[in-house]
Amino acid sequence: MRQAGRIVAEVLAVLQQRVRPGINTAELDELAHQVITKNKAIPSFKGYRGFPASLCVSINEEVVHGLPSKKRYLEEGDIVSFDVGAIYQGYHGDAAVTLGVGEIAEVAKELLAVAAGALAAGIAQSRPGNRTGDISWAIQDYAESRGCSVVREYTGHGIGLQMHEDPQIPNYGQPKQGFLLKPGMTFALEPMVNQGDWQTRVLDDNWTVVTKDGKLSAHFEHTIAVTEGEPEILTSS
Ligand code: MG
Repeated sequence: MRQAGRIVAEVLAVLQQRVRPGINTAELDELAHQVITKNKAIPSFKGYRGFPASLCVSINEEVVHGLPSKKRYLEEGDIVSFDVGAIYQGYHGDAAVTLGVGEIAEVAKELLAVAAGALAAGIAQSRPGNRTGDISWAIQDYAESRGCSVVREYTGHGIGLQMHEDPQIPNYGQPKQGFLLKPGMTFALEPMVNQGDWQTRVLDDNWTVVTKDGKLSAHFEHTIAVTEGEPEILTSS
């Protein structure tokens, strides 16, 4: 899983270098695919329930599962989330990051900071003796106390030999509830943080999730391992 995580981190680092106004989203998907396969790994997303790409590209009000396309380009002022997974020798890594394209509005910068902070708050709770609810609550509290909301319909998840394993780890919840954390457990934590209300809907392409109110959404994700001590981030570069 460390190897899979390193490959995922490399993809996101390469994408980060390429992000600029005018770049084509299908080109970014192709790049992600190249980095994964060059590392002798398999893209987790391609073909997953029929998903057509190796990379999710979700722009502005899109929350998750956005589709890269030759017809879609990034524009100055967009925020774009890249979500990518790789399978190395049977084990999965899964991570996402949201970036600004060129100069972005102050409110967008704040949203990215809150979403990244919410993920960090969740990771900090990923310790033996805590429960999944402690992670959920830390994420929710971090985002809501800063005037944002957390998406309810999509959650973090266990990960290992499958991309999505039990338990689900919602981005909202109650402290001291849920599954007891033990060393060796591996999770993908992935707060989706909205500028407005938390409600979402799915577009007619049956994939792209957008905010119902059309306001911005940001998504950050790491695959982590619970250890005896500090949580280990498997998808950090
Ligand atoms: Mg995930």
